Amino acid sequence: MKSRLALALTAALTLPLAGCGPSEPPAGADTAATAPTEANPFFAASTLPLQYPPFDRIRDEHYAPAFERGMSEHRAEIEAIAGSSEAPTFENTIVAMERAGQTLRRVSAVFFNLAGAHTNEAIQKVQAEMAPRLSAHNDAILLNGALYERVKALYEQRDQLGLDAESRRLLERYHTDFVRAGAQLSEADKAQLKAINSELASLQTRFGQNVLREVNASAVLFDSREELAGLSEAEIAAASKAAEEAGHEGKFQIALQNTTGQPPLTDMTNRDARQKLFAASIMRGSRGGEYDNREVVARIVKLRAERARLLGYPNHAAYVLEDATAQTTAAVNDLLAKLAPAAVANARREAADMQKIIDAEGGGFELAAWDWQHYAEKVRQARYDFDASALRPYFELNNVLVNGVFYAANRLYGLNFTERTDLPTYHPDVRVWEVTDADGSQLAFFLGDFYARPSKRGGAWMNSYVQQNRLFGTKPVVANHQNIPKPPEGEPTLMTFDEVTTMFHEFGHALHGMFSDVTYPRFAGTSVPRDFVEYPSQVNEMWATWPEVLANYARHYQTGEPIPQALVDKVLATETFNQGHATTEYLAASLIDQAFHQLGPDQVPDDVIAFEAEALKQAGVDFAPVPPRYRTTYFSHVFSGGYSAGYYSYIWSEVLDADSVEWFKENGGLKRENGDHFRRTLLSRGGSVDAMQLFRDFRGRDPQIQPLLVRRGLVDDTAQQR
Ligand SMILES: [Zn+2]
Repeated sequence: MKSRLALALTAALTLPLAGCGPSEPPAGADTAATAPTEANPFFAASTLPLQYPPFDRIRDEHYAPAFERGMSEHRAEIEAIAGSSEAPTFENTIVAMERAGQTLRRVSAVFFNLAGAHTNEAIQKVQAEMAPRLSAHNDAILLNGALYERVKALYEQRDQLGLDAESRRLLERYHTDFVRAGAQLSEADKAQLKAINSELASLQTRFGQNVLREVNASAVLFDSREELAGLSEAEIAAASKAAEEAGHEGKFQIALQNTTGQPPLTDMTNRDARQKLFAASIMRGSRGGEYDNREVVARIVKLRAERARLLGYPNHAAYVLEDATAQTTAAVNDLLAKLAPAAVANARREAADMQKIIDAEGGGFELAAWDWQHYAEKVRQARYDFDASALRPYFELNNVLVNGVFYAANRLYGLNFTERTDLPTYHPDVRVWEVTDADGSQLAFFLGDFYARPSKRGGAWMNSYVQQNRLFGTKPVVANHQNIPKPPEGEPTLMTFDEVTTMFHEFGHALHGMFSDVTYPRFAGTSVPRDFVEYPSQVNEMWATWPEVLANYARHYQTGEPIPQALVDKVLATETFNQGHATTEYLAASLIDQAFHQLGPDQVPDDVIAFEAEALKQAGVDFAPVPPRYRTTYFSHVFSGGYSAGYYSYIWSEVLDADSVEWFKENGGLKRENGDHFRRTLLSRGGSVDAMQLFRDFRGRDPQIQPLLVRRGLVDDTAQQR
C-alpha cells in the first residue's frame, strides 16, 4: 500500500506568486519599538550556501513579524503591477508576479515545513492567526480586478506575444489561476468568496491541530504487562517508560499512529487489549471533547460546496478535478467503481483464510477489524514461512539510506552524496547531504528527518525549503520526513520493510524536486497536478527490491552478511499478500473523500459519521473487518491537507507508476540511460509541460491500466497472483 502523503509544496506556497521585493519595513510598522529588525533572519535571503535556511538563527518570535512584512511587501509589489500606467507586457505583469513576494515565500517555506515537522504551541498559535490572513492575502491578489484585466489582456494576445513554450504556459496558468479563484465574479460574489476562504483556512488549520492533539491525547494506557503479551521486551519497556513520563508509573502506554490500523495490533495476542487499542484509534475526533472534529468537518464540507457553486461548479470535487489530470468526477468515480468490487472480493477471501486459523485454534469468535493484522501475520507465516521481524536486522537505517536509496540514485542518475555537518538544523536528528550531479557540479541539499516525535505530524512526506528556478538562479533544498520509532540511545534503527519502501518513495519526490530544470518558480519540481505528483515517487519504490540494489543495502547490521536469497524470495512472494485489505482500506478512504466533496451545499449532513457509513455501504465497501485507512474525523489529507477530493490520486498515479515500472523492466532496469531518459523527459520538467504529455514523452504512448491490475491482484480469479 502506498498511500503516503507528499506535501506538494504548493500546499504551503499556493500563492502562485513570489518575487524579490525591497527589504524595507512596511510603512507604519513600529520598527523602533523593540528588537532591531536585522535580527529577523527572514528579512533577507539566507547567506548560507544555496540559501539554506539559517535554522540556528530562527526563533518562534520571528515568524509573525516576517509574515507581516512579507504580506505587506508583496501587497505593495502587486499594487504596483496592477496600477502600472504602462501597457501590460509578459515581463511587467506575469514575470513581475513571479518575482514578487520573496520575503513571504522565505518565511512560508520554513514556517509551514516546521509546522509539520517540528511544531510547538507558539508555532500553532501563529498558524491559527495567519491561516485566515494568508487566505485573505491570496484572495486580495487573485481577486484584484485591475490585475486580472492585465492578465486577461495578455492571455487574449497570447498567440502574438512571441513567447517560448514555458512562458506561454505560464501566462495560461496565471489566467487559469485567476479564473478559478473567482476573478470573473461580481464584486458581491467576490466578497462572499473571500469570507468563505477565510473561514475555511481557519477551520482547516483547526482540523489539523485537533488531529495532532487528539492522537497524542488518545494514547492507550494498559494496567498490566499481560495485556501487552506478544510485543517485544523493548516495546514493552518503551510503553512502560511512556506511561511513567505521562505520570502513570507502573502502567504501560501505547502511542497511536495516524492511520486506523495500529502497528502493535500485529503482535498483540490479548484480544481484549487489541480491541481497546483499535477502539481508541477509530474513535479519534468523534468521541466528544475539545478535539472533536465532527462539526468542523460538516462546516468545511458545506463551505467548500458553497464556494464551488459560486464559481459555477456543481460541487467541490468537480471544481478540484477539472484542474487535475482526471478532469471529471465521472472519471474518478469510474476508476474507483472498477477497482472496489474486486478489492473487496479479495479482502473477503483473505478474511476467510484468517477465519480458518481462528477456528482451528478454537478461538470461537468471528474475525473483527482489531484481529486483522494479527491473523494476517499468522497467514503470512504459515503460507510463506517467515516472520516479518526477521527482516529488520537487514534494514538498518543508515545502510538503507546510503547503500540503498542513494546507491540507486547513483546508478540511475550518477548522483553523489556527501554528508554536511556544518549546516544548522532544527532538530539534532535531522541530517543534511550535499548532492552532486554526474559531472561533479553541485545539484542540491537534501535533508533527512526520519524519526517520529510528538512535535511531528504523522505519515511521511517531502517538502522544499528552496525551489529551483532560472529566474532567480536558485538550486533546490529539499527534505524527506518519516515517522520511524527512534530506538534507545546506542541501539541501531532497524526498519520494517514498509518503512524501507517509504524511504525510497519519499526520495522519489526528492528527486523530482532536485532535478527540476525550469525557468519559472511557478513550475518548479513537484508543482504538478495532485493526481500526478505521486507517480514519480511511486516509481522510485521499485528500486527497493531491485536485486542489485537490495544486495547492496540489505546486510545484517551486526555480521554484514547479505540478506539470504530465500528470505528475499519470500518478501517478493508476499508482495500481493494482503492486497485485498490494503486496496480496500485505501479505496474506502478515497470513496469517503469523493462522497463528501460531491455534495451540493444543501446536501451536507449534520451527522458526518452516519454519512460516512452510508457512503461506504452505497459503494459496496462496507466490510466491517476492513475499515477505511482514515476515518472522516482524522482524515487530514482531505480536511486539512491539500488532498480534498484528491485522495484517489495515489491509485490514479499508480496506473502511471505500474506502467512505467514495466518500461524500466523492458529496457534493462537499473542503468544510467534509463535514469537519464526519465530525468530528461519527466523529472526535470516540473509543471512546465502538461503532465500527461510528460508521461507520453517518457513512455512513448498513453498509459495502460493492466500492470496495476496485475500488481494489486485485481485481475480476474483465474489469472490472479497468489
Ligand atoms: Zn508520496
